[in-house]
Amino acid sequence: MAYVISDACISCGACEAECPVGAISMGDGQYVIDADTCIDCGACQGACPVDAPQAG
Ligand code: SF4
Ligand code: SF4
Repeated sequence: MAYVISDACISCGACEAECPVGAISMGDGQYVIDADTCIDCGACQGACPVDAPQAG
């Protein structure tokens, strides 16, 4: 299962740089994770100030 960014995301962009596989990008109003690329490492959750990325 891929991580999913909840609507708590404030679009700060901190997670995008932390993802080792480039799965995170700006989507429609907030950042999103490409489920097919995510390897479930959890780095985005650790980088997020509002704990928006959650294990799916
Ligand atoms: Fe990227 Fe890891 Fe977050 Fe998946 S869990 S989006 S691989 S940082
Ligand atoms: Fe959104 Fe958190 Fe990523 Fe910032 S670090 S863009 S708040 S998910």
